[in-house]
Amino acid sequence: MTNPHSFPSERSVTCEPFHPRGDSRQLSDSSSPTSAELTDCLFFSPEDGRIWLNDQRMVLLHSASFGALRAEIIERLGLEQARGLFTRAGYACGARDARLIRERWPQADAAAVFRAGTHLHTLEGMTKVEPLHFKFDADSGFYEGEFLWHHSCEADEHVATYGTGQDPVCWTETGYAMGFVSGLFGQMVIFREVECRGMGHRCCRVIGKTCEQWGDVEQDLSYLNVSQTVTRPAAAPLPDSPVSCGAQGGQQQPLIGASAAFNAATQALQRVALTSATVLISGESGVGKEMFARQLHQLSGRHDRPFIALNCAAIPDNLIEAELFGVERGAYTGATQSRPGRFERAQGGTLFLDEITCLSLAGQSKLLRALQEREIERVGGVRGIKVDVRVVAATNIDLRKAVADGSFREDLFYRLNVYPIALPPLRERRDDIPLLINAFLTRFCREYARTPAGLTMRALKVLLRYDYAGNVRELQNLIERGLIASDEGQAIDLVHLFRNEAMPTDPYGLDDQGGLSTTDLRPAHPDKPSALLETLGQLDQGFSIDGLESRLINEALLQSAGNLAAAARLLGLSRAQFAYRLKKHQRHRPQRSQAS
Ligand code: ZN
Repeated sequence: MTNPHSFPSERSVTCEPFHPRGDSRQLSDSSSPTSAELTDCLFFSPEDGRIWLNDQRMVLLHSASFGALRAEIIERLGLEQARGLFTRAGYACGARDARLIRERWPQADAAAVFRAGTHLHTLEGMTKVEPLHFKFDADSGFYEGEFLWHHSCEADEHVATYGTGQDPVCWTETGYAMGFVSGLFGQMVIFREVECRGMGHRCCRVIGKTCEQWGDVEQDLSYLNVSQTVTRPAAAPLPDSPVSCGAQGGQQQPLIGASAAFNAATQALQRVALTSATVLISGESGVGKEMFARQLHQLSGRHDRPFIALNCAAIPDNLIEAELFGVERGAYTGATQSRPGRFERAQGGTLFLDEITCLSLAGQSKLLRALQEREIERVGGVRGIKVDVRVVAATNIDLRKAVADGSFREDLFYRLNVYPIALPPLRERRDDIPLLINAFLTRFCREYARTPAGLTMRALKVLLRYDYAGNVRELQNLIERGLIASDEGQAIDLVHLFRNEAMPTDPYGLDDQGGLSTTDLRPAHPDKPSALLETLGQLDQGFSIDGLESRLINEALLQSAGNLAAAARLLGLSRAQFAYRLKKHQRHRPQRSQAS
């Protein structure tokens, strides 16, 4: 399964090679992805404590702490076990970075893609990688590469604790190289340090070859297997296997998220689903309370019975009772025939009551009776009707407070609050944003039959740190709007996401000197005076202020499909100002335009 976007979810990633052959000697420094382009993927969001490498959350760790952790693990597990653990950790990093490169630069030159790993490994601060040469041919399964690693962090930490020794010590870095190259190449490539700073050499020298080319890779592979069992080369682990990252295979997963906060909520949901307990879902508007309620229903033994939803805020007070419990003919003026309420329609299934605090006190007491006695009475009816319905209530305000201020019945609160599930707002589960963006892009591209080029880097940066007062629903709206506003094949940029609203503030990235700096959020076109004049000079019929104004008016009209008010907004004008200018230009138009 391939994906048109720049960051598919973990699930949609395959390990099929698509870079058949390449040679480092044919590589130019300007081939994408360049070192600068990769640096641009790294950015800081200090207000909310996150560092991103494209869509992967990163962390700054003191090299000395890494050394101390490593030493403690060596003490506890022994050298061989610890070596395996760090090799696998490095492998996971390399495989993730390979995925980043493949997804962000799917069309890049094959050798440049392989070289990108050396840039990323260097950028992440593990070691300065100097490629000596590498060459590969995926069709014939050939890979050979030789690299120097300068001032390896792991070697320095190892030597600081243990001094120099007989064996290479850059386990994490070796794992990284294997993860990255194998992740791109589609078959297992083993890297070995033939020289290492940890053995007293000036720098580390590493060689990579496929299992077949090495021949004796049992020991190398054993470090990649958690069980430490030796695997035959033919049965080598798939390049992506150590980093399944909790992906759920092909299993259908309508609720999207992998963050700790989201997992806690879904686990609570799964635990209660099989019971018939009443569930109270709380969370801000837009967090997906109804989605959760539907999922609860699907996971429950009632899944083949109806799921009925009612938003208590959407029904006027005087109608809510009839809506919930139904009416008998003649119960009130206009009740010309009997009809069942939502309780009856949900018979055997689940009734979802959103914004439960909007229920009047009279409505609350009727609901309480229905829950207690499992029996309802239609409005104007005389007999009780037995109902077997699981009620799931939802609220976006604190029910305890509503009880305290007397607007919500305390006994009903305790009836509903049997099993509370709190859904976190999106800003508290930011790690899920890339997954959600991908899911929405995939969905809307299908709905609108579009194949976009994904999101621009700066659009992604802003989305990852945006405040989302409207939660998941707001993110969904932004993606849908961005897709509609961008042209076919064009990457979705900030102007498409935030059309007439204030642009969010700048995130931090790395500048040329490696310092933190803010990113330019202005539209991608150069707007220096000279550049603007240069652009204007290239207009077909030469340039005049009048001509420019006329052109702006036409483009605004086109973009807003002829809607004057919308076109005026695009140009920062009032409708009257826009209409005046439009009229002026129509007067001066050549005959041909007026006739058409
Ligand atoms: Zn080394």
